[in-house]
Amino acid sequence: MINLERQPLLMVVSAPSGAGKTTLCDRLITEFDSITYSVSCTTRSPREGEIDGKSYYFLSDQDFEQRVQGGEFLEHAVVHGNQYGTLKASIHEALAAGRDVLMDIDVQGAEQIRRFVREGADNDWIRDIYVDIFIAPPSMHDLQLRLWGRGKDEQDVIQRRLERAQEELQCWKDYQYVIVNDRLDDSYHALRCILCAERDRVRRFSSLDAPDR
Ligand code: 5GP
Repeated sequence: MINLERQPLLMVVSAPSGAGKTTLCDRLITEFDSITYSVSCTTRSPREGEIDGKSYYFLSDQDFEQRVQGGEFLEHAVVHGNQYGTLKASIHEALAAGRDVLMDIDVQGAEQIRRFVREGADNDWIRDIYVDIFIAPPSMHDLQLRLWGRGKDEQDVIQRRLERAQEELQCWKDYQYVIVNDRLDDSYHALRCILCAERDRVRRFSSLDAPDR
């Protein structure tokens, strides 16, 4: 018998709005109860059904800015005109409890974390556990249909999201993995395969047994 301990993963998923990221992430969290979903802070208003502390921490502009000044965010960015950010404390807390962490953040936030992984001082804790995945729609036309179809947003909001999606799509090459979300079941299969394979990398494990003499 060998007695191994596995380091938890920090997994980032980004996608243009409407590419199916939320559905895929929700399914992953439902299947794997070892994953903690990283609850972000935002200055946008809650949508119907969203719960403070569960969907997001909904903050005022002032409160958000104070936390930026206090260095509380691992990353933060303006997305669709609102501030979004991930608190360092909540990530550290989940990892310390041995939980894999799933972060649903935009391309700017992912780029900030990648830079930190590459160049940051005190980046030991994140270097070997960081994994990122880009979810792409099969085409812009498909994305357009999905944004119209879900009926969540006004016309001008959809137009802005489509313009932003064009820019975000340029970033797919910066990620370690890309999933083209054509058929949801296939995409979910790919996502869970990435998670399982990444968890089993030898470098994630350390031995709890006494070293051989
Ligand atoms: P929504 O407001 O529709 O929930 O999210 C809008 C966008 O903000 C999504 O692309 C989502 O990935 C991104 N987002 C959510 N939380 C964060 C965060 O903490 N940091 C960054 N950079 N983006 C985030």
